[in-house]
Amino acid sequence: MAFEVVPRPGQLRTRDVRVVLGPRFTSAEHVDVLVLGRPGEQPSTGRILLADLPGGGRGVHRGLVCPRCRAPKQLLLTDGGGGLGCTPCLRRRTRRQAERSLADWNKYDGEAEDELFRCLSGPRANCPGTLGRARDIADEIVEGDRDRIAALAPDVHAALTVAMMET
Ligand SMILES: [Zn+2]
Repeated sequence: MAFEVVPRPGQLRTRDVRVVLGPRFTSAEHVDVLVLGRPGEQPSTGRILLADLPGGGRGVHRGLVCPRCRAPKQLLLTDGGGGLGCTPCLRRRTRRQAERSLADWNKYDGEAEDELFRCLSGPRANCPGTLGRARDIADEIVEGDRDRIAALAPDVHAALTVAMMET
């Protein structure tokens, strides 16, 4: 079996397959691929089926059928064990998913700030219970900021290092 070698380590993308297959891309039912592993990983080989993507609209929008869930995808990843799978199957977080959880985090703080404001501006603002709750919320917000600053520290350090090298 002759494998098409895909140069992108750890990833098999529809556009790479399109380039590799050329005019055969629109009619091919499968492609035999060898995908290089990421550093320290073995390469993945296999026969990947091609199928039309749902909702592709006009033109030919084909996808790579995930060997695990059988859904057509634009991207398959190496699993480190010689196989391939889509992102949900391999439970690998994409950048967008990471950003969404960050957005949720920000939303949580937004809710806390909103609750704090309502505590202090409401009719019961001077009650000891309300003030205690307000103090708790304020502590939560400050704690969240401290965690975020700690998480950002390596990026900030790297940015400063680059900035110093450029001057
Ligand atoms: Zn899958």
